[in-house]
Amino acid sequence: MRLYEYEGKRLFARYRLPVPRNVVVDGTSLHQLRNVVYPVVIKAQTFVGSRGKAGLVQFARDENEARDRVCSVLGTVYSGHKIDRVLIEEKVRIKKELYLAILVDRLAHRIVVMSSRYGGVDIEEVGHNQPDAIFKYYFSPGSIMHAYAARNIASEIGLEGPFLAPGAGAISDLYRLFIELDCKLSEINPLVLTADGRLMALDAKVDLDEDAMFRHPELAAMGIVARHEVGELSERERFAKKAGFPYVDLDGDIGVFPGGAGFGIAAIDLIEHYGGKPANFMDSGGAPTQDKLRAMLGLLMDNPRVRVIFGARFGGISRCDDWAKAVVQYVIENRPTKPMIMRMAGNMEEEGRKIIEKAKSEHGDLFRKIRVYAYDTPIEEVIKETVRVAREQGRPETSGDNNR
Ligand code: GDP
Ligand code: MN
Repeated sequence: MRLYEYEGKRLFARYRLPVPRNVVVDGTSLHQLRNVVYPVVIKAQTFVGSRGKAGLVQFARDENEARDRVCSVLGTVYSGHKIDRVLIEEKVRIKKELYLAILVDRLAHRIVVMSSRYGGVDIEEVGHNQPDAIFKYYFSPGSIMHAYAARNIASEIGLEGPFLAPGAGAISDLYRLFIELDCKLSEINPLVLTADGRLMALDAKVDLDEDAMFRHPELAAMGIVARHEVGELSERERFAKKAGFPYVDLDGDIGVFPGGAGFGIAAIDLIEHYGGKPANFMDSGGAPTQDKLRAMLGLLMDNPRVRVIFGARFGGISRCDDWAKAVVQYVIENRPTKPMIMRMAGNMEEEGRKIIEKAKSEHGDLFRKIRVYAYDTPIEEVIKETVRVAREQGRPETSGDNNR
């Protein structure tokens, strides 16, 4: 469970890790901008990586400037995620940016402390171009970090003289936080040396093991409760959650409207296999109501990325005729223009077919781009046709409308 930077920094503060003075501001607490010491850094609270490069880390010299910047960020949607809060921090003068992270190396079955004297926004390139510049120190599960190990790491990343002791202290504090709070990751990038001689964590990326949350009432007391998501939900994912069906945004252009979770996953594989790109995973979950089915279809239709919808209903507990009714009603009410290529087989197939045929004869125009195949057309053929139609509809949008 990823934490926001401001939550991570609250944990840091609990573990004595030095962080800049800060306040969290949302649309209702702009007055707090009066009570901070300028200049400040304004940081959008979102899980999108590389905020620095995306312009989501800004500076302000006074309250007016801060208000302008904060208002321009709050409420904007970035990579599918709405920004509801910003962190306002004392702006520090950076002398050196370092990198420090602790995570589980799953191949080595050990905890690894990764550190570098070249921290900051380009750490990915450093890791890629100069792997030697990343220093790795391994710890066996259950072992503590001895003081000599912390000092060893500190000096590897250039913390020496008066910085050696505070550096080693910060490293062992972060290790204690990682172990005690059951983290999957705790990262500080950048860990900085300031012009006035302080060592500070300017960023915080903490990923907790959500299955261990019950062990941490102290987190709940801080308002950090199990969210059960890896990251933030996109608008569509939030909508689906409210409507009561599992849904995950993917970055393709074929909307997947499957019967159930199992086939939903298989459909994603098949679409990829035949050269297409699915736009989502979705599960109708048991016997969905008509309302739910229409909400599911609407979510795909309204997604600007989606060029064509692939649907499959293998009627079992949830019957083909119910499915057909929901599809027909959705089409009549919403007059969608995107093609739908579907297959319907199984329980109440004949009844379902009659419903579709009747609708086609009464509303020919609305159903022009809607094809519903039966048991005698293999699913592979239906998927191949979907991929072909998606191609004909043009390329997927590359705008930042989606996440992941
Ligand atoms: P990220 O890009 O999402 O990882 O956001 P960070 O919190 O790491 O900020 C990105 C970059 O902004 C940092 O690497 C710093 O170079 C810069 N930055 C952040 N806070 C400050 C600050 O207080 N003073 C200065 N001068 N730069 C800062
Ligand atoms: Mn960072």
